[in-house]
Amino acid sequence: MTMKRLAWNRFSFSLSHPVQLRGQWLDCREGIYLELTDTYGHVRIGEAAPLPGFSQETVDDIEAELTRGSLNFKGFPSLQFAYEWATLDFEKKSVRQPIQTNALLMGPKTVEQFYRKKAQGFTCFKLKVGFQMLQHDIDQVKELVAHMAPQHTLRLDANQAWTLSEAIDFGKRVAHPQIDYIEEPTSCWEDWEHFYNETGIPLAVDETVVRIQAIPALFPGLKAVVLKPTLLGFLCAQTLAFEAIQMGLHPVISSCFETEVGLEGLRYLASTFPVQVPHGVTTCHW
Ligand SMILES: [Mg+2]
Repeated sequence: MTMKRLAWNRFSFSLSHPVQLRGQWLDCREGIYLELTDTYGHVRIGEAAPLPGFSQETVDDIEAELTRGSLNFKGFPSLQFAYEWATLDFEKKSVRQPIQTNALLMGPKTVEQFYRKKAQGFTCFKLKVGFQMLQHDIDQVKELVAHMAPQHTLRLDANQAWTLSEAIDFGKRVAHPQIDYIEEPTSCWEDWEHFYNETGIPLAVDETVVRIQAIPALFPGLKAVVLKPTLLGFLCAQTLAFEAIQMGLHPVISSCFETEVGLEGLRYLASTFPVQVPHGVTTCHW
């Protein structure tokens, strides 16, 4: 693509349900739509929406960078995602296979949410844990598992909230074969082999991949690599996904509550993988 014109628009949308992330409540999503016009007059749009609490850059940072006329992606992975998705060939965007998705359960009344999502056809569910009392999380997981049919699986995500002893205590009390994996139980992935040996619950890396810009060396229990293109860039996430497959791990594309423009990029990326597992890209109703 030969780019003729670059423009951008700032957006801000209220979320229909506030989302609790790392102890802070998010009630709106702000970002920038990048509009690239090629020499044929085609307009292509990407979304740069840094996630507060997870992204290093802010929307103001991106706007300042664009105002300077710069497309420096270092330190701006959300902008890199927007640009790389917008400039991907149209032909490639039309090549896709169906993908599976998981349903995110978050906030009060998770059992009611589970039954609503189950009625929509979901069989894989994801529950955020780690920001309530440990006993609350244990009760919630046990209750959900009790309602699940044999074909259902549950993914857990603790966002590094626990110490190792808390994580092991939790894991021992909820362990169940229908738990697909838990993401980031503690902040130190070197502890997770011990967690797995104690609990038998498989693990997924997420924030750690962004921090070390790589997939950690294989260890017993590591099952999946969660990849957020808004925090990594589109092509970096794609490269890491194929590395994960080579390592025998499941690549799981995950949203940062992007709008439909960004989610379309995530769904496309997931559709390019030769190994299909459920992806976390159904957050458009939030
Ligand atoms: Mg996660």
